[in-house]
Amino acid sequence: MTVHEHSRLLRWLLPDDKEAFTFGQHVFCRGRASLPLLAHEAAHVGQFRRYGIVGFFRRYWMHQLWNGYVRNPMEIEARERAVRILHAWKRLGYTVEDFLEGRV
Ligand SMILES: [Zn+2]
Repeated sequence: MTVHEHSRLLRWLLPDDKEAFTFGQHVFCRGRASLPLLAHEAAHVGQFRRYGIVGFFRRYWMHQLWNGYVRNPMEIEARERAVRILHAWKRLGYTVEDFLEGRV
């Protein structure tokens, strides 16, 4: 997983309320990456690995159209996995810097 902080691409592509966007292994953040944000996006990286890029977008947008963002099962899974990832990271004492510098 590669994190791009202060991404101009994200600011150019997405509306102001979107903090991050994941594409494959790459996470583009509007500003600095926080641990909760990274945990959520790490779950999407896992979904990209599982479904592939085409499969991810096909599933994601199908769910988005039927269920909307909050009830999109892929977002629900990402929120649930983020909570588990955060608990594991905090238990081990990791910080954002540990993650960004490749120690996690
Ligand atoms: Zn998400």
